[in-house]
Amino acid sequence: MTPIRRRILVGLSAVLLLAALDAGIVMKARQDIVAAVSAQGAALQRLVSQRVDQHDAHLTSVSALANASDPPPAEALQQVIASITRFYPRIVAIDVLDLTRQPPAALLGTAVPAEVAAVHGRLADMPFLLVPREQGGVLHILKRSPTDGPARLAIMMSIDLARLIASDDALAPTTRVSLLLDGQTLFSEGPDAGQRVLFDQPLASSTQPLRLVLAAETLPVIPWGWLLLATALVALGALAVERLLDARSAAREAGLRALVASHDAKLAHASRVNAMGELASGIAHELTQPLTAILSHSQAGQRLAKRPEIDREAIATAFDATTRNAKRAGDILGRLRSWLTKGQPTIEQVDLAAVVADVVQLLDAEAAHAGIAISVAPPPHEPLVMADRVHMEQVVFNLVRNAMDALRDRGAGRAIDIRWGDEAGRVVLDIVDNGPGFTTEALGRVFEPFFTTRAEGMGLGLSLCTTLVERYGGTLGAGNGPACGAVLHIRMPRARSGRQVGRVAAE
Ligand code: ADP
Repeated sequence: MTPIRRRILVGLSAVLLLAALDAGIVMKARQDIVAAVSAQGAALQRLVSQRVDQHDAHLTSVSALANASDPPPAEALQQVIASITRFYPRIVAIDVLDLTRQPPAALLGTAVPAEVAAVHGRLADMPFLLVPREQGGVLHILKRSPTDGPARLAIMMSIDLARLIASDDALAPTTRVSLLLDGQTLFSEGPDAGQRVLFDQPLASSTQPLRLVLAAETLPVIPWGWLLLATALVALGALAVERLLDARSAAREAGLRALVASHDAKLAHASRVNAMGELASGIAHELTQPLTAILSHSQAGQRLAKRPEIDREAIATAFDATTRNAKRAGDILGRLRSWLTKGQPTIEQVDLAAVVADVVQLLDAEAAHAGIAISVAPPPHEPLVMADRVHMEQVVFNLVRNAMDALRDRGAGRAIDIRWGDEAGRVVLDIVDNGPGFTTEALGRVFEPFFTTRAEGMGLGLSLCTTLVERYGGTLGAGNGPACGAVLHIRMPRARSGRQVGRVAAE
């Protein structure tokens, strides 16, 4: 995966993680609201249920007193009622209604509300009636008295509903609390916009079957502090993951580079050994000359030595020539050995002109045999580069060999020109031939491994050359000449003056 794609992936994962975390935080805040309102509702329901139980108790005691005599003892009743309303401010009034009159009359002087007068007849069927005041806010509880037998009296208790649900535990300002009777809202307190019902329970009372409902806004106030903390943590996490992946991929890349480098070295060596077979006949030819010279100078020396008068000077000349030619043969074999050596690459200052000269010498016999003229132009500056000398020889060798292969089917006048270009800070070497040049398809693919148009080719020469040149900061380019033939350009950074030597570290 490329670093850019990996970064996008890490970024996206971080954004997703952040979204999940934020959603989690908001959901948690919402759950907290739901839990808090539910707990408040349960506490309020217990409190209000106890209060309505007290209503039953007061109604029972007032009813018992009202039936103690006929007519009911007004003075005693008034005293009891006064003490009840004093201690329980939510009980705004209590009176005894005489149901035998039409409309019923309040024996203790309270005005009988119209809504109560309208329904009193129903007390014959049920011992309790709950009648909300028309303007709201007050609930009249009517209890038939006595409970058994024909309805003669009714105890009317009027309850202030706001006080009935008042609690010391303040509800959140966004919570609405309501009391319902038979699905109708009797009383409601708190804001009324966008709330959701979070608590809905009947009071624990058989005589006053009211429902307590709490509704609240569930959209929480966004907990910015937590969200910012989560964002910072996720960003830090993403950064750490990115660093970790970077470090891992750097380590993997280094490992891969080392592997590729070791394969390059093996490939380069194999390619040199392979070329050796093709060079053998040319080298044998090259060796014939010094060996023949050694033989003829030694024979001349023998003849001179057998003469009666010793010509020391002539004998010394024959020995000198023998030594010179033996050295030349030794040089040829030395070049061959160094060509085949599989040493560790060593970066040093290399004179590309000397490299070109050596390669041309190595291929000279074969080129002459194939009727190819190789010409080398003198370099404009000393072409010094920092590289491994054997690698540079291999690059030049491969390019000249490719040019020779391309010229194989050409007629007379086959030529390879090795020229120097001049670019600031760079050594430029062009290897130009007058063969068929590259086809358009080949031009786009010649540096791909295993691309070849030759029946016996492997397609590894140019890709190996590119790897070697790029390893030392250079580039390899291919193109066609203006008239015909191929042009291969090697561009290498020019070495700074002073001799520097080093081993290719980590390779
Ligand atoms: P190989 O020589 O084994 O085919 P290379 O990687 O050295 O592999 O070359 C790849 C291909 O590039 C060759 O098969 C040939 O088609 C093309 N090529 C290379 N050098 C030349 C050249 N000087 N002239 C024309 N074509 C060339």
